[in-house]
Amino acid sequence: MFVGHLALAVAGKRAAPEASLGWHIAAVTALDLVWPVFVLMGVEHVRVVPGATAFNPLVFDHYPWSHSLVMAAGWGILLAGLARAFGISQRTALILWALVVSHWVLDFITHAPDMPFWPGSTRVGLGLWNSIPGTLLIEGAMWIAGIVLYLRGRRSTRWIGPVALWSLIMISTVMWVAGPWSPPPPDARSLGWFALIGWVIVPWAALADRYYTGQQSS
Ligand SMILES: [Zn+2]
Repeated sequence: MFVGHLALAVAGKRAAPEASLGWHIAAVTALDLVWPVFVLMGVEHVRVVPGATAFNPLVFDHYPWSHSLVMAAGWGILLAGLARAFGISQRTALILWALVVSHWVLDFITHAPDMPFWPGSTRVGLGLWNSIPGTLLIEGAMWIAGIVLYLRGRRSTRWIGPVALWSLIMISTVMWVAGPWSPPPPDARSLGWFALIGWVIVPWAALADRYYTGQQSS
């Protein structure tokens, strides 16, 4: 799942407006941010197999350190701790922790049975990716709801806000929708390097969020 994760970040922003959207995006994508690092280190393994699932050509052979449920809880504690160090309240830090763990739940729904509970455990997955229409429908609905939720009651304070926000939305959406029809990455290593670029989404969202205002803290 990709834009579905981002949709949950927005829901998190509604629940905890105190922190920049950059924090919420970092939380929902945390497992995918550490994953390419482990792939490039040779600690986790992925294969490019065209047709592996209808939506995605990747076989995640081994990624217990980035993508097991127990480790997700651990990465969540790490991010929540970092947020606390930046002066973010305990309540918001708890929501950030939950957003990190939400990544595992959404990937469990999406992936083939490759999601471990802990390193070495049995692996589970409901395989939404086996259906292109199903993926587009469910994830797309989440994404649209997320965008509407973010914009409701908010207005930009400078032109840079909408430019950053809409470029982020467009590029994420195009990359996600085009996925099944794009040529697969040549190998795991180039996929790892490409995925590392994903880190840019965090400061990008923070930049957009900085120039939007309106939501009252609750
Ligand atoms: Zn993931």
